[in-house]
Amino acid sequence: MGGNITFSIIKPNAVRTGKTGPILAMMNEAGFEISAMKMVRLTTNQAESFYSVHKGKPFFEGLIEFMISGPVFVMVLKHENAVEEFRKLIGATDPAKAEPGTIRKMFAVSVQMNAVHGSDSDENAAREADFFFTASERFL
Ligand code: UDP
Ligand code: MG
Repeated sequence: MGGNITFSIIKPNAVRTGKTGPILAMMNEAGFEISAMKMVRLTTNQAESFYSVHKGKPFFEGLIEFMISGPVFVMVLKHENAVEEFRKLIGATDPAKAEPGTIRKMFAVSVQMNAVHGSDSDENAAREADFFFTASERFL
């Protein structure tokens, strides 16, 4: 059993096209509670640092351009076994491979513009949450 928090981003394509509310509703219906949330526009430095594990990959530069292209919502979500349960809710990175009913299946427009981020481990969830939020900005 994993930890009880994960970190998510509603990505620029979804914010831009008015999908924030429907995506938050799906998180809510799946039992995730919001522990912290804010709207921000990432700087190039923030985006490169957040995705540093992908530096050097062919999609890296396009991903950074996309992630800084408009405001996003960053959030810490609470749920039992949060990382694994949230990865199930969002579906595969490539929306063509995502299960029906997942957030990415419903709202992604491409592998790059796949609507949401979800942490891939408890360690990264903690690191990503700390990257965006101070202790006093987190609740529950
Ligand atoms: N990405 C991309 N092209 C690819 C693979 C990934 O543009 O071929 C983007 C996509 O937005 C993805 C992010 O890079 O969500 C991080 O990739 P990762 O493999 O970590 O996927 P995730 O953990 O988000 O499912
Ligand atoms: Mg990842």
